[in-house]
Amino acid sequence: THVVAEPCYECKHTDCVVVCPVECFHEGPKMLYIHPEQCIDCEACVPECPEEAIFHEDHLPADWVPFRDLNATMARQT
Ligand code: SF4
Repeated sequence: THVVAEPCYECKHTDCVVVCPVECFHEGPKMLYIHPEQCIDCEACVPECPEEAIFHEDHLPADWVPFRDLNATMARQT
């Protein structure tokens, strides 16, 4: 799956949401989250993000690895 990380916090862009073919972005109070069972790893969202906040889960910068579980938890709630 792909994961939305720290640079998305309080970002108001939705370029990623628009291009996602499976509509797996979920909007939280402060940022977006990707639903891990819905994302098909097409990578369409990655170059669209102006904040460079989206990574494949295997390529998350070390500091942002906790965002993997956060995306899953939050996306399943919304
Ligand atoms: Fe959606 Fe593709 Fe991005 Fe996954 S990688 S969130 S399916 S646009």
